[in-house]
Amino acid sequence: MSSALHNLQKKGEITMEVYYSSTRDNSKKITASQAILQGLSADGGLFVPDHIPALSHSMKELAGMSYQETAYEVMKLFLTDFTEEELKTCIARAYDAKFDTDMIAPLVEAEGTYYLELFHGSTIAFKDMALSILPHLMITSAKKNHVENEIVILTATSGDTGKAALAGFANVAGTKIIVFYPKNGVSPIQEKQMVTQKGDNTFVVGIHGNFDDAQTGVKKLFNDKELAAEMAAHGLQFSSANSINIGRLVPQVVYYVYAYAQLLKEGKITEGEKINVVVPTGNFGNILAAFYAKNMGVPIGKLICASNENKVLFDFFQTGDYDRNREFKLTSSPSMDILISSNLERLIYRIAGSDPLKNAAMMKNLSEQGSYQITPEMRGQLSDFYGNFADEQETAERIKEMYENTGYVLDTHTAVASAVYQKYVADTKDETKTVIASTASPFKFTRSVMNAIDPKYDAMGDFELVDELSRIANVAVPKAVEEIRTAPILHDHVCDKTEMKAVVKQFLGIGKEST
Ligand SMILES: *Cc1c(COP(=O)(O)O)cnc(C)c1O
Repeated sequence: MSSALHNLQKKGEITMEVYYSSTRDNSKKITASQAILQGLSADGGLFVPDHIPALSHSMKELAGMSYQETAYEVMKLFLTDFTEEELKTCIARAYDAKFDTDMIAPLVEAEGTYYLELFHGSTIAFKDMALSILPHLMITSAKKNHVENEIVILTATSGDTGKAALAGFANVAGTKIIVFYPKNGVSPIQEKQMVTQKGDNTFVVGIHGNFDDAQTGVKKLFNDKELAAEMAAHGLQFSSANSINIGRLVPQVVYYVYAYAQLLKEGKITEGEKINVVVPTGNFGNILAAFYAKNMGVPIGKLICASNENKVLFDFFQTGDYDRNREFKLTSSPSMDILISSNLERLIYRIAGSDPLKNAAMMKNLSEQGSYQITPEMRGQLSDFYGNFADEQETAERIKEMYENTGYVLDTHTAVASAVYQKYVADTKDETKTVIASTASPFKFTRSVMNAIDPKYDAMGDFELVDELSRIANVAVPKAVEEIRTAPILHDHVCDKTEMKAVVKQFLGIGKEST
């Protein structure tokens, strides 16, 4: 691109259209709204933008903006087929009083590090950051593309996506939502949040299996042509609220831009100063958003990828081998209990030189053998990333130590990130100012958090623990937890992973009833 054009673009005078194509076949280009509607490409690939746009404002200018204004400035660069009015309406409906702070994503300083609290939305986990806007993006996309069908959101959840998607889509006209979660793989509060979900268009099902089983089953249903035809005959079509949907990824880029701008505004950093970012990682969506923010021009140094004992990503960054053939561990950070990090495919595609054939070959290996190996050349492009992990004991110790040092209570996922950050500093002596993505409220994982602080708490009931946490942390019980104390259970379906298709058809009232 000529530098004159680049300058104009930087000034925001020209916006270059961004088109999306599949990581497994980039011959077909579609618009952002089409990619949001489809969710996953029919060839099994993920939609990626054909380029990462540069920020059209300086960080100093962005430092004067609200969260909503920042969201517009970032999202308009990716969702170039949305009008200003459409996008601003989506943003206004998403980031409103559902959040318990006007900051939407506040930064809290503890031990000299900045915790970017992404859990102030209606389900108290970071999934709200994207899932409070996705339904609006989806409905707008349907209108723009003259889609008459009802949209059926099909989602696999490791605990947090499910509730955030249910909350986002409940009673949204023109949509239905079906959520599959691992019956024994989520926290009691997470499960209660989901099975008490109201809304005539919501369906929640526990499956006998783990998150990867749920995710694999959902991907299969998406690619089931027979099912798609039957649905179309009934005026229905699938879309996805999982982080494979580009409509989830784009809103997540916003808070990294916002965090940097806030640090600048508060004089914690100078303009251009690099920061590091630590992200507790499962499906690789959140950290990929940070990588996109870096590529837009946010001065980010290292992207520190924190895993729990399911440390497939740590091993990948160490060796260049991605290998899911290992024992799946249930940990106290269940939203990171994942062995197939779907969004990593977007990074693999990129470091393969945007070569869909190379990427598709690796993904074929992953589905057939459970592993793939990247080339030394590809590995050479991963220098932005650092990976490490924290085991269960290290995670619990981090919660206790942070509480004793500062009175601040971390949830288990954020504690994994915090423990990994300590390892990073010990390894590298890098003292760059650092933002840690704080992905859940400790009230969502109360038992694990309280047991880490003192094992005596294990004797208490779930909601007694909630009150005790509120007392010792001096933080009010979030509305999301108050609401489920007495809420009736509205969903009690459980099925085997082989029954997922039948269950979906039953809910949608199509085909034979399942037996
Ligand atoms: C989903 C989730 C994660 C993992 O995020 P990815 O984008 O899947 O990597 C981490 N922590 C919490 C609390 C989550 O809900």
